[in-house]
Amino acid sequence: MTETHCPYCSLQCGMTLNRSGRTLEVQARALPRNVHSPSEEGALCRKGWTAAGLRGHRERITTPMVRDRASGAWRAVEWDDALDLVAGRLAALREAHGPDVNAVFGGGGLTNEKAYQLGKFARIALRTSQIDYNGRWCMSSAASAGNQAFGIDRGLPFPLADIEQTDVVVLVGSNLAETMPPAARHLDRLRERGGRVVVIDPRRTATAERADLFLQPVPGTDLPIALGVLHLLDAAGAVDEEYVAARTSGFEQVRQSVTGWWPERVERVTGVTATELRELADLLAGAERVMVLTARGAEQHSQGTATVLAWINVALALGMPGKPFAGYGCLTGQGNGQGGREHGQKADQLPGYRMIDDPAARAHVAAVWGVEPEVIPGKGRSAYELLDALGTPEGPRSLLVFGSNIVVSAPNARHVTERLESLDLLVVCDLVMSETAAIADVVLPITQWAEESGTMTNLEGRVILRQRAVTPPEGVRSDLDVIAGLAERLGAPGVWSTEPEEVFGELRRATAGSRADYGGITYDRIRAEDGVFWPCPDLAHPGTPRLFAEAFATPDGRARAVAVDHAGAAEEPSAAYPLHLTTGRVLAQYQSGAQTRRIKDLPDDGPFVEIHPLLAGRIGAVDGDLVHVATPRGEMRAPVRVAETIRPDTVFVPFHWVGANKLTNDALDPSSRMPEFKVCACAVSVAPAAGRAASQQRGTAAGVRG
Ligand code: SF4
Repeated sequence: MTETHCPYCSLQCGMTLNRSGRTLEVQARALPRNVHSPSEEGALCRKGWTAAGLRGHRERITTPMVRDRASGAWRAVEWDDALDLVAGRLAALREAHGPDVNAVFGGGGLTNEKAYQLGKFARIALRTSQIDYNGRWCMSSAASAGNQAFGIDRGLPFPLADIEQTDVVVLVGSNLAETMPPAARHLDRLRERGGRVVVIDPRRTATAERADLFLQPVPGTDLPIALGVLHLLDAAGAVDEEYVAARTSGFEQVRQSVTGWWPERVERVTGVTATELRELADLLAGAERVMVLTARGAEQHSQGTATVLAWINVALALGMPGKPFAGYGCLTGQGNGQGGREHGQKADQLPGYRMIDDPAARAHVAAVWGVEPEVIPGKGRSAYELLDALGTPEGPRSLLVFGSNIVVSAPNARHVTERLESLDLLVVCDLVMSETAAIADVVLPITQWAEESGTMTNLEGRVILRQRAVTPPEGVRSDLDVIAGLAERLGAPGVWSTEPEEVFGELRRATAGSRADYGGITYDRIRAEDGVFWPCPDLAHPGTPRLFAEAFATPDGRARAVAVDHAGAAEEPSAAYPLHLTTGRVLAQYQSGAQTRRIKDLPDDGPFVEIHPLLAGRIGAVDGDLVHVATPRGEMRAPVRVAETIRPDTVFVPFHWVGANKLTNDALDPSSRMPEFKVCACAVSVAPAAGRAASQQRGTAAGVRG
């Protein structure tokens, strides 16, 4: 019996794995109350229950594979030959073009140890500045806003179960009930106590069904809603002036910035009525404790950082951050979305959130790595900018991919796939032949979840331990083995352990004294306490479940209120593309679906296009018809689902399958470099080739243009 955690989302639900012959049984495991387990019994969603389904899967790769570009044929090779080949080509490229010719792309699902080792590998084995990761596309806007406002980026500065004790929780762009179902019980318990739930989303989701107040704005307009709410709070004298004076800076500029956002103007921009906006402001003004939580719906925009800052300003105006059972938080998505961004995969950061251009930070990390600070390169390109540069005269000509399925998950995916195909060398480490692995030159088969140990940091900043429960299939190796094997062949300085606990020991030293200080966290301690919250600077420190009670992590200890304004989406509807497109998740699938689409006990109905009955009527589509969705970047076809729960001017496509991200916009947030996944302009019509008799009888295949 092995105590561990789910392989998927940032909730990292506790589970116990029992081996019974060749079968691996999953059981929910209770975690300490008031941390994140929603009940004493523990709970999992169906993804967690079926997580063992990839074990022994027939599509599992168990030997390194090399592809012949001319014929497209794959051949199996020995590990030594594969690593020699990859290291030799990386070294040759570096010799010919300099170190930045090689690039690394990581993932928010990698353990802390892997994320740490990957950042170190890029900087001192490849000596490249070109490393970033798919977490840039997850919560980087909230991270950027958190750093600006609070001086630190920890998704939730309080345990998730604090939701139950607040009075009003405002969920902006979060479909908690479908993305992390066990967490939705916190909403139910809050309501049982008499608390209120507010949901803001262009779709009436399963989460919205739990709401006391549901606002359904035009995609990409969460920001002006916050501006309008603050306008009303200020007009009503509901700003906590004492708190603002004592604990914030910059609030007067914010106050000035919202004077023009009267409710009727907000209504025109967002579609949320002035009455609804006043209802929300009244609810917030009358509450003693308010919690504002954002997720990808609010953050994955070219104004994602500004949107989060606007909602933080609302929380600050109400005097909430730092108050018990109140404040602002971000609901991180990927399993190690939090830890993955703390330990050096980001283009501009070293372990412990140390900035790569800070001389003191470089000196500290260099000493841990056993190199001179000058060896560590400077800041590289952000995730999308890195992919966009691949194969160009100025860009990298090789890419090593760990824990990411870029072909499915990148915005403007058709363009990104072309960039990947233009490389001299693409190497992918994966369990299965994902869509990205399928176009690689070399695929290295790696261990998964229950076959290896490592720490993760959940959405609360709580460091937990996934423990190895089974022996990996013969022929696969861990990412740490791959990194060490390549580092050795490249003649890298320093120590390259393949033991997760040893790597964690080095990570502790590298983060000591930093904002994300893991110095006092050990595997034994995590086992004994079922997780430890960072910062935890020494072994005697109890960890920090709640931040900001006394001060914020800014130089003056005050939260910074930052004035922002609404600029709109980078791409607004036009005559050719008259609708809004938004994307998101479904209950049974996780991220690019590389794992969950292969688990037979999880329903996989494939992609679909959700539209409102009014829109369906306009284009002559009925449920199940094949429809065509187009944006300026690409197109896709999928069956239509007609639902009254979506705005009539909006089209929704889930992103777990190839297609959705061929449509999405690569416009970037200026601060976080987050692409605008959540809104762009699109057109939809019944696919001409659908040939459905019903469609032909209606004679309406023309779409909605004009
Ligand atoms: Fe796993 Fe997330 Fe489901 Fe929990 S909610 S079982 S962590 S996928």
